[in-house]
Amino acid sequence: MPKSKPPKKNKTIRTTTPKPPVVTIMGHVDHGKTTLLDHIRNSNITKGEAGGITQHIGAYQITHSGKKITFIDTPGHAAFSKMRARGAAVTDIIILVVAADDGVMPQTKESIRHIKESHVPVIVAINKIDLKNAVPEMAKAQLVQEGIQVDGYGGNVPVIEISAAKGTNIDKLLDTILVLSEVEEITASPNHSLQAVVIEASRQKNQGPIATLLVQDGTLHRGQDLTSVLLQPPIIGKAKRLTSDIGAILTSAGPSTPVILLGLKSVPPAGTIFTHPDSATELTVKLAPKTEPTASLEPTTEESPPPESSPEKSSSPPTPPSDSLDSPTPEPAATPEETEEPISIKIILKADTHGSLEAVRQNLADEVDIISNSTGEVTESDVLMAKDTGAVIIAFHTPLSSSARKLAKVEKVPIKHYQIIYKLLEDFESQVLKLLEPTIDEEELGRAKVQTIFTIREATIAGCKVKSGKLTSGDTIHLKRGEKIIADSKISSLKQGKIDAKSIDAPEECGIILKPSLKIQEGDILIAFKALEE
Ligand code: GDP
Repeated sequence: MPKSKPPKKNKTIRTTTPKPPVVTIMGHVDHGKTTLLDHIRNSNITKGEAGGITQHIGAYQITHSGKKITFIDTPGHAAFSKMRARGAAVTDIIILVVAADDGVMPQTKESIRHIKESHVPVIVAINKIDLKNAVPEMAKAQLVQEGIQVDGYGGNVPVIEISAAKGTNIDKLLDTILVLSEVEEITASPNHSLQAVVIEASRQKNQGPIATLLVQDGTLHRGQDLTSVLLQPPIIGKAKRLTSDIGAILTSAGPSTPVILLGLKSVPPAGTIFTHPDSATELTVKLAPKTEPTASLEPTTEESPPPESSPEKSSSPPTPPSDSLDSPTPEPAATPEETEEPISIKIILKADTHGSLEAVRQNLADEVDIISNSTGEVTESDVLMAKDTGAVIIAFHTPLSSSARKLAKVEKVPIKHYQIIYKLLEDFESQVLKLLEPTIDEEELGRAKVQTIFTIREATIAGCKVKSGKLTSGDTIHLKRGEKIIADSKISSLKQGKIDAKSIDAPEECGIILKPSLKIQEGDILIAFKALEE
């Protein structure tokens, strides 16, 4: 927050800065939209940064002439119609693709209707100019007849002749996007309240709801609470994990950044807008359709929001824009380490070549502690190193010597084998997620530290001190050692002295018997948790 200038009125100071334009490609089927999107992406992802690995998440960002451009890569996406219904646009610029051998066709006309209604600036791309029967001038003349006043035909709508298949003039098209974006003064306020729209969402095994969001205004920070607006009941969640379209782990995402979000309580429909709970009222007022105040989105996924989600917290008049994004407040129930504890997983990385090693390494950035990385097969010394450091061995495209396999079995060292990088990254995400506590679908009930271990009539009893909350007989627990959750079990009985107890509150001491029994060590943490129903 700037301190030198006195604040105007009592509002948060808003700095508006140019943002990467969000571009959508429209046009008739087979005119080359997908080819164009693929060409742009494949030749412009920041080389080296991602090792060329891309993921279809509904949107992606490229860099051209040092400037970023965001593309929505699913033409005619459901998110647009939902957004349009409330008079807001997901896109800043539309590229209308028309094949030079085919001219204006029914879906071209439909796209033109949309362009006119939305008032979004357009660039025409006359595609397939490499074909012998291409007649770009015919296509342009037809466009003029449809009311698109292309450059050179008395109008000023930029028109570029391209071949998406051969890559001809694509740079020129990207230059034009950047010029138009400057002319149109496409801006956003990274410091303003968060507004992020769902492009795609689904439920993934082991990960829960996963959504591609496009930040439209403000900044999405990891760890911040989120709520949907204009959806009853709202979908709530927390930005547990943010990943870019190239798999990089992010701590925040500013305007026009597409981001994969983990941490929502249920799967939101495309077009849903998320914000920080403090800004929900303000944004609801801003985005609510004037004619249908109660209109809500039709869920398009397999799930509807959870019935237990609390309704939006206030029906009070709109509050002034909050500056809470500058200082995100933790959930009242959250323990300090729950919000801030760094997630860390140790790995020993083996791959067949330096190229693949590099590709994996770059994608596993940030929260992964790479103990060692080298090429070649997994050997006994890798297994021993993993055992000593508590690391997991990740073997990519590389075999395991049979002696290493035997040793790993004896030493219980986890080795994960992958042939496809995509699968590796996906699994890795869920591995990392498993280490988060409480996980997105769990509520922590209490935790206890193991102080001593003794055996009575063959039963192992963990002498513990309850550090927080309450432990109850029958609770499911995670056994946490160091940074890792290494096993789950149940509390089969609780003892205070020699007496059986039903539950023990912090800061009491107690004896805990687990069933199934686990090899507990002094210093281990037992975390009692409850699975939350979605
Ligand atoms: P979409 O339905 O608009 O996404 O169109 P596609 O990108 O799937 O392209 C349809 C067909 O046109 C495919 O066979 C492409 O290979 C071909 N195509 C796309 N762009 C070009 C181009 O610039 N030149 C030529 N010759 N073929 C193209």
